[in-house]
Amino acid sequence: MNKKIRLSIIVPCFNEGKSIDLFYKGVKRHINDLDVNYELIFINDGSRDDTKERVELLHEQDPKVALIDFSRNFGKEAAMLAGLHFSKGEYVVIMDADLQHPPQLLKEMVDTLNLEPYDAVAAIRRNNKTKGKGDPLLRRIFSKNFYLFVNKMSDVDLKEGATDYRMMKRKVVNSLLAIKEYNRFSKGLFEWVGFKTKYIEYRDVERVAGKSSWSYFSLINYAIEGITSFSTVPLKFASLIGVLSAFVSFLYLAFVITDKVINGNDVSGWATIVSLILFLGGITLISLGVLGEYIGRIYNEVKRRPNYIINEHLTSNVNHEE
Ligand code: UDP
Ligand code: MG
Repeated sequence: MNKKIRLSIIVPCFNEGKSIDLFYKGVKRHINDLDVNYELIFINDGSRDDTKERVELLHEQDPKVALIDFSRNFGKEAAMLAGLHFSKGEYVVIMDADLQHPPQLLKEMVDTLNLEPYDAVAAIRRNNKTKGKGDPLLRRIFSKNFYLFVNKMSDVDLKEGATDYRMMKRKVVNSLLAIKEYNRFSKGLFEWVGFKTKYIEYRDVERVAGKSSWSYFSLINYAIEGITSFSTVPLKFASLIGVLSAFVSFLYLAFVITDKVINGNDVSGWATIVSLILFLGGITLISLGVLGEYIGRIYNEVKRRPNYIINEHLTSNVNHEE
């Protein structure tokens, strides 16, 4: 008997009740072209709508569908981690539930891993400039600068437009699972573990239903996560600015003293003092903030809390033939 590759499809879901069925149909339509045995692992990340019930229905009809139900919302990073942890396939792919990760690409991904010397295939999103399609302009500007900024500031090299839509061989998944850190920035971890990765492009599409759970505030937090996860450059900046301002202050002090002793000028500037206090105060507070970001993360790491808590787990039968 021809032994088929086993493929695990991991789908983090947060309030995706309206998308689940469409997603399931979309994947079904394309997966039959592939010569794989697959399982579909939906992670219900504390949704407040009927996501769980939808997946339970699918699970009853289709033994390839699994459900991992979290006790509350733990975030997409935690959901992806749980999916990787419970995946059984030799190949594993992570997909969004809103069909923004087109299932058409699955074939190319599987073929690449089967036939070419790659260990992972990552989808790169290209902006769709057609009016009304793809992400809003402000979001696009934010995301472009996000990659530039994180790359400049950190030790990993993120590809612009790289998404979490990736298919990986088991050894890549195992190395991701071996990373035990609590604050996970997967976009960076994927690059950090190495392995030969092929990048394929697709045009941005809008989510099929519901709305994105990202606010601009959470995007800024995500950027900070990306930088602090992979670099200590902000800390070095803080100390460098400290040294520079101390140096300039000494020069100025020398000037004030000579001016007084040699020229007999009294110290004049109220304005100088106020601006100095504000300037140094500002720098001090910013540096404290930078320190705080790192300390907060150390605090989270040392507590060693689990990344997620599972309420219920309905497993799949990955070997089930149609
Ligand atoms: N998601 C999740 N937990 C969260 C937020 C999002 O599992 O706390 C899932 C969501 O259901 C979707 C994927 O992560 O399948 C991407 O989320 P979203 O579409 O909101 O992000 P965007 O596509 O706008 O980047
Ligand atoms: Mg989306």
